[in-house]
Amino acid sequence: MARSFGGGRHEGLIAICLVLMLGLFAAAVAGGLPDPSGVRVRMEPLADAQRPSDAPVDGTYRGARLQFDLPPRVPGSRWVLRLEREAVDAVWLQREGWRSRTLGFFHPDAATGVLPSSYLFALPADWAGPVELELHTVGAQRRALQPELIGEAQAMRLEQYGIAASAMIYASLFTIGLLALALFSAARDRMFLALFAFTGVALLALSAVNGHLYQLPGLRAFAFWRTQGVIALLLLLCAAWLQMLLQYAGLAQGRTRWKRLVDGASLALVALVAVCLLNLPQVARMLAQVQGVLFGIALLLGLALLGDAARRRTLMALPLAALGVLTLAGVALLELSSRSHLLDGALLRYGYQLAIVVGVAILAVGLVGRIGEYRQQRDREQLARADTERRMQREAARSGLSSELHSRLRTLPPGDIPWAAFRLLIERLMPLLPVEHCVVVTQGYHGQDALVVEPVAGTDAVRAQLGRRQLALKRQAANGIPLQQPVTEAGAPSILAIEAVVPLQIRAPAWGALLLQRRGTDGFTTEELSLAGEFARQTLQQVEQAMAAVQLRQSAELDALTGSFNRRTIDQWLTRSFSEGARSGQPVSVLFLDLDHFKSINDRHGHACGDAALREVALALRGALQEGDLFGRYGGEEFIVILPGRNGAAARVVAEQLRMAVDDLRPDCSGQVLHLTVSVGVATRLEREDTPEATLARADRALYSAKAAGRNCVQVAPAVFR
Ligand code: GH3
Ligand code: MG
Ligand code: MG
Repeated sequence: MARSFGGGRHEGLIAICLVLMLGLFAAAVAGGLPDPSGVRVRMEPLADAQRPSDAPVDGTYRGARLQFDLPPRVPGSRWVLRLEREAVDAVWLQREGWRSRTLGFFHPDAATGVLPSSYLFALPADWAGPVELELHTVGAQRRALQPELIGEAQAMRLEQYGIAASAMIYASLFTIGLLALALFSAARDRMFLALFAFTGVALLALSAVNGHLYQLPGLRAFAFWRTQGVIALLLLLCAAWLQMLLQYAGLAQGRTRWKRLVDGASLALVALVAVCLLNLPQVARMLAQVQGVLFGIALLLGLALLGDAARRRTLMALPLAALGVLTLAGVALLELSSRSHLLDGALLRYGYQLAIVVGVAILAVGLVGRIGEYRQQRDREQLARADTERRMQREAARSGLSSELHSRLRTLPPGDIPWAAFRLLIERLMPLLPVEHCVVVTQGYHGQDALVVEPVAGTDAVRAQLGRRQLALKRQAANGIPLQQPVTEAGAPSILAIEAVVPLQIRAPAWGALLLQRRGTDGFTTEELSLAGEFARQTLQQVEQAMAAVQLRQSAELDALTGSFNRRTIDQWLTRSFSEGARSGQPVSVLFLDLDHFKSINDRHGHACGDAALREVALALRGALQEGDLFGRYGGEEFIVILPGRNGAAARVVAEQLRMAVDDLRPDCSGQVLHLTVSVGVATRLEREDTPEATLARADRALYSAKAAGRNCVQVAPAVFR
């Protein structure tokens, strides 16, 4: 897997994000410091007797007396009493004869601006000097609101900071959410869907925290749950964050310890959410006290998850963990400020919100980085698959060639075997290798010269060309190693094609080569050459096997000395001819031939001379026969001829021709000219005979009588010997 984490690709981005975060934190803390230019406001709780008669008695009411000295106002500007926008139901100012408008967190009125970050009460322009005011608030709140008296322009500036911060947070979340959705539809990774869901919950939760949610038509109904609704959304956000980190860290599958822990925590958070939705005021108060601790625990669990993920080198886990630490610090600061007035200010609340946004952005970057890894992996897998497919295709072609050669060559006469094998080789090879033409050339292979060209139309041109380069080609073939060379037009330097010469492993002096020609300057790959070599090797192997099979068959059928049928074969022919004759009623004649005084030839000229003479006699006898006549060596210096369709008279004529053929023969043995004669016995199948035995016996007796009659003559056996 490609290492992206720490690989530098995202490091710059992360560094910028973190620096930005630190800057924002510093700004938030600075913004939270008391404004020195404001007017000091003294504040003391209202005595019970001074409570308004309509104030709720459930403990959600708070009243305070404010005292301050209003300095002379700057012309064109008013004094503004600014309160942080805590989640209260109602807040208003009052003094005798004057009451401000009532503002509320959950029911913003039309006069409240867009994305407000504080409650602003403009004091009447004619107020000056010492002023006493009552501040009334209704609603669950953790501490009394801390008023700030500042100039109108200053209040507006602070308000604008708040608007800018919250607008930036919402816009970023919205953009990242859309991006996540787009990435999900592109990459189909469920993680992006989780990110989209998380940004959605974050948008809801943060806009609820800031009180902006209740300004949106359609979402005002959330006001029903008041503070509990806000806490519920924040708890839901924590659960979503944990689940998303679990998925991000790759621990969502299976039953890991982490998964059990995070699922348990999420379940607890969701249970709390359900409790919040019951809308019980006691629960609201209790949760308001512990919410900071709950968020802290959820964040710590998330941090531990990220730590584990970083240890396993998950992309972006470390920067996310760093951000988690910062967020934790932000939440702690916020919690601190909510319990005391050590740090105060609207901007502080945006610190952790910004941290969430930056965290989500880093997560998105990490996920996009992971898409790259997925893609690389997919590309690798695709390559491997293509490679396997190609190999399987070649393997199929190889075994196809092998089995086709095996079955086809067996049925061919030996002279046709090499040629047919080479044609098959070319047919099978060409679809695998894009080539313009393919040639197999051999010389002296199994006593033949072969030239097979595909496409066939180019045969003449190839033959002419090979004639010129025969010697060079023979040398290249003898080299035994495939090579490739450019093909140029005579006298022109430009390359027309590349030719590969794949030598055929044939025993010298025979030689052969497979020639592949590809148009253009793209050569053959080593793999292609080895494939061609493998195909050629396989073809030659099959040719050798087929030839060996033919030889084996022949050695079983033929007589080794003369090459004519041996006795076993001729016996089979005899049986076949006689049953055929019996079935068709056609005559069948048999001639027995025995050389005269052959023993003396051996005695006088040696056995080798005798053998040579036997070969010449067999050749002469076969030459004197017609097609369809069957001739074989019956043993020793005896021969037999089967004449299907010939009666006794016709057989006698043939026998006479054979006798004369031998008589005319003058075999030469080491300078000594021999003269041989032969005696022939003739017999013809009788009508009732469907096996050869009786006829053979009669032919044998006829031969005996020919010997008795002085040799070098023909005797025809009568139907019955007396
Ligand atoms: P004839 O048939 O005229 O009575 O006299 P012959 O001398 O030919 O007698 P016969 O047919 O009985 O002898 C067969 C001889 O043929 C014996 C052997 O020396 C010779 N012969 C048989 N087979 C072979 C062979 O394969 N090679 C050689 N050189 N001689 C053979
Ligand atoms: Mg004999
Ligand atoms: Mg003899």
